[in-house]
Amino acid sequence: MTSPTPTSIVARYDVIVIGAGHNGLVCATTLARAGRSVLVVEAAAEVGGMAITRAFAPGYRVSACAHLLHQMPLALVRDLSLAEHGLEFAATGLPTTSLGADGATLQLATGGTPSAAFSPNDAAAWPAYHARLGRFASLLHGMLAAPAPRLGTEGWSDKLALAKVGLKLRLLGRRDMREFLRIVGMNAYDLLEDEFKAPLLKGALAFDAVLGTNFGPRAPGTVLSLLYRLAAESAAGSSPLAQPRGGLGALTAALARSAKAAGVTIRTNAPVAQITVAGDRATGVVLANGTEIAADRVVSSVNAKTTFLNLLGTEHLDTGFVRRVDHIRSRGIVAKLHLALDRAPAFTGVARDALGGRLLVSPSLDYLERAFNPTKYSQFSAAPALEITVPTINDPALAPAGHHVLSAIVQYAPYAITGGWTEPSRRAFTDAILATLEAQAPGIGASVVGCELLTPLDLEQEFHSAGGHWHHGDLALDQFYMVRPVPGATQYATPMAGLYLCGASCHPGGGVMGLAGRNAAVRMLEKGA
Ligand SMILES: Cc1cc2nc3c(=O)[nH]c(=O)nc-3n(C[C@H](O)[C@H](O)[C@H](O)COP(=O)(O)OP(=O)(O)OC[C@H]3O[C@@H](n4cnc5c(N)ncnc54)[C@H](O)[C@@H]3O)c2cc1C
Repeated sequence: MTSPTPTSIVARYDVIVIGAGHNGLVCATTLARAGRSVLVVEAAAEVGGMAITRAFAPGYRVSACAHLLHQMPLALVRDLSLAEHGLEFAATGLPTTSLGADGATLQLATGGTPSAAFSPNDAAAWPAYHARLGRFASLLHGMLAAPAPRLGTEGWSDKLALAKVGLKLRLLGRRDMREFLRIVGMNAYDLLEDEFKAPLLKGALAFDAVLGTNFGPRAPGTVLSLLYRLAAESAAGSSPLAQPRGGLGALTAALARSAKAAGVTIRTNAPVAQITVAGDRATGVVLANGTEIAADRVVSSVNAKTTFLNLLGTEHLDTGFVRRVDHIRSRGIVAKLHLALDRAPAFTGVARDALGGRLLVSPSLDYLERAFNPTKYSQFSAAPALEITVPTINDPALAPAGHHVLSAIVQYAPYAITGGWTEPSRRAFTDAILATLEAQAPGIGASVVGCELLTPLDLEQEFHSAGGHWHHGDLALDQFYMVRPVPGATQYATPMAGLYLCGASCHPGGGVMGLAGRNAAVRMLEKGA
């Protein structure tokens, strides 16, 4: 982007937050409630980032990216008074149904418990597995709501935080500690093969281990991503898998109202072109239209790569740091398909109650791994894995009377495919997804009256998120906790004085959780903001 010529400074704030995604809004509200004057500047025409609801066909609305809420702590929802600011739920505690071939289905209750009738052996193995993973997830639990310690410092807070992690591990007891260390770097495929028999159960559990990541179930570290998801869900302390009434945009609209009530000023259609620096300190921002706004501190919810390399500029950073930022892997692999339907879809073997829940097409570990394989060669999955919701079952107002919306998260679709995302390749991928749906819901194709496909490239362009990545950067062992997003920027502060990060590329990562935003604000206040 060419730097605009700054016009005169039009205002001054204690803090400018770049980006009004859910993390930016949580961060802004927390700072404003502590008495700071806060301006949020958002590139898009509306707030919400990747958690918005919008029309994709005349009369049909859908959660454009995130469609289920399951990781935001209930304490945060209460603290920000989101119910008072209009947040309602169309449904909570949604069940998951794993769809197989020939109409076979397996229903998983809240918490993942499989129905005993389906596989008595697996039902018998479930309680011990569930309890064990629950104990391990609780180890990660406390790590989510606090900054990750920095590596190699003399700071007591870093040493204490590390010691706490070690102590929690030790308190697991010898057997669990050994088991945790055995499985944490393992792949989900091997773990689930050891534990269960039913392909539908293993496929569904593995899907949650790889959702939003650049991995198939055989990739090392996918047990960690599974534990991480479980930790975030249990830290949320709410009914997991909830559907806000009006879609995820209703959540971020409530967050924006909460922010305004705390005194935050929000400007949309205000893309930041540059973070200004004077005397080795961030001093504000210049918008794309040239308006310069000054602040004592700037906090960016934009992904780390864009923040450092484009908005700040490498001339302000040392070479080693720039190299680490440049190496962040942030190309997404998740697509989204939205269908407008002129009637309710009929999935074989799925009752109406379950149709309002989450449906998974990940019928076995091998199916999921095969769906991943083509991505290694820059191809999309010809038989993709899907997380499907039909939000209009619980929230009919999203479509005209009697009509429905289908929202599907699709894995896998690389950011860059051989030959590019052209009209023919988009059509071919849409057809592959529709064929996968048709096998589960015969006749669904004939009911489609509108369709939208969002590839990671579309997500990048439409949501101002480089790489279009779910987490703004892979959540993998080498980009996790103490090294997220990169050493030198792990506690929301950055090498540039006065510049902080607060989005999904920071610890604890993406998902509509709000903890990156909250942790960043708390850290800034501790540091004297
Ligand atoms: C297809 C898909 C499905 C998903 N489904 C789920 C789900 O069901 N449940 C779940 O919990 N999570 C889901 N996620 C993940 C979740 O949506 C994200 O991790 C989360 O929304 C990130 O929030 P954020 O506030 O950190 O960043 P964002 O939501 O990306 O917000 C960043 C904001 O910064 C703005 N911005 C960028 N550049 C500039 C600039 N230069 N100037 C000003 N503003 C700028 C952007 O417009 C945006 O509003 C999904 C993600 C994808 C891609």
